[in-house]
Amino acid sequence: MTKVRYENDIQTEVLAGKKIAVVGYGSQGHAHALNLKESGYDVVVGLRPGKSQEKAEDDGFNVFSVAEAVSQADVVMVLLPDEHQPAVYEESIKPNLQAGNAIAFAHGFNIHFSQIVPPENVDVFLVAPKGPGHLVRRTYEGGAGVPALFGVYQDVTGNATELALAYAQGIGAARAGVLETSFQEETETDLFGEQAVLCGGLTGLIKAGFETLTEAGYQPEVAYFECLHEMKLIVDLIYEGGLENMRYSISDTAQWGDFASGPRIVDEGTKARMKEVLADVQSGEFAKGWILENQANRPMFNAINAKENNHPIEKVGRELRDLMPFVKQPLQAKQSKQKD
Ligand code: NDP
Ligand code: MG
Ligand code: MG
Repeated sequence: MTKVRYENDIQTEVLAGKKIAVVGYGSQGHAHALNLKESGYDVVVGLRPGKSQEKAEDDGFNVFSVAEAVSQADVVMVLLPDEHQPAVYEESIKPNLQAGNAIAFAHGFNIHFSQIVPPENVDVFLVAPKGPGHLVRRTYEGGAGVPALFGVYQDVTGNATELALAYAQGIGAARAGVLETSFQEETETDLFGEQAVLCGGLTGLIKAGFETLTEAGYQPEVAYFECLHEMKLIVDLIYEGGLENMRYSISDTAQWGDFASGPRIVDEGTKARMKEVLADVQSGEFAKGWILENQANRPMFNAINAKENNHPIEKVGRELRDLMPFVKQPLQAKQSKQKD
């Protein structure tokens, strides 16, 4: 089995006394900055003027422009949206990096697809939490953590691996487990996972099930509970104890239905198309399309997003969730507050 590192496996001296600039204070940024600070590190935040800046100041940070934060830091963690990183890097980060500094990322996209080409005299590493930023923060506060991948792209000081591990420890990830990866593996598996399984695959499955039931004349409310609401209950069982645990908990009828009909839904054709999706990720075809979409100010992204938000499952879901106040995720409430 791959080596998974926990708190006792990690030496943190290499990061002690260093100044860390967290650039960006969104989902990941606020979690990294606060967790590192509470782990005893010297953290400054780099931002443009705006909402995030106010929030970081309210949370007690010294907030500087990105350029100023980078020039005083030893370690720079870039937590801007991936599509904004190359421009901010060129303008404000690159000119202020010094030999022997480290630049770090939470996702390998820009380094792996050469949208950012770091200078040869700095360490470059990755610490990618395998969970949303708000959980990185919430689990840390509760004494636990979200697991993370770490990887080293460039090691000029000879300390890049120890730095990455100490950083992962600082955000609480070593409480849950830290695994070594490469920028390539992290980028490709992350993109594939979100496209084929976690986001694209799952939303497609939920919508297709809901549409099948409502088109057959069943009530949308019933279809919503069956295809969306119950998903969490099932996923929680899988998360806690694997597929076996979920199958233990459901009825034998449901389990037989799983075996008998599941392979008719996700079949060899689905897997063949997953392989095509993976090939597009590996060849850079997906990255190219996403970079161009951003350069054109996201015409498709915005149009599809508006259409998706109007899907009947979203309308009935909003009404039903209003009647189940306990379902209102603190995460969602916090996030929308932050985005206001
Ligand atoms: P968010 O969109 O949540 O936050 C972005 C932050 O960057 C905001 O504070 C925003 O501030 C700031 N920002 C945006 N543009 C600029 C700019 N031009 N100059 C200065 N600041 C700017 O990002 P995420 O936390 O989702 O993503 C950050 C990184 O983490 C990405 O690489 C992503 O792939 C990775 N990641 C994200 C995960 C997640 O949970 N979301 C999971 C694992 C990795 P403002 O208020 O001014 O707009
Ligand atoms: Mg991702
Ligand atoms: Mg049932």
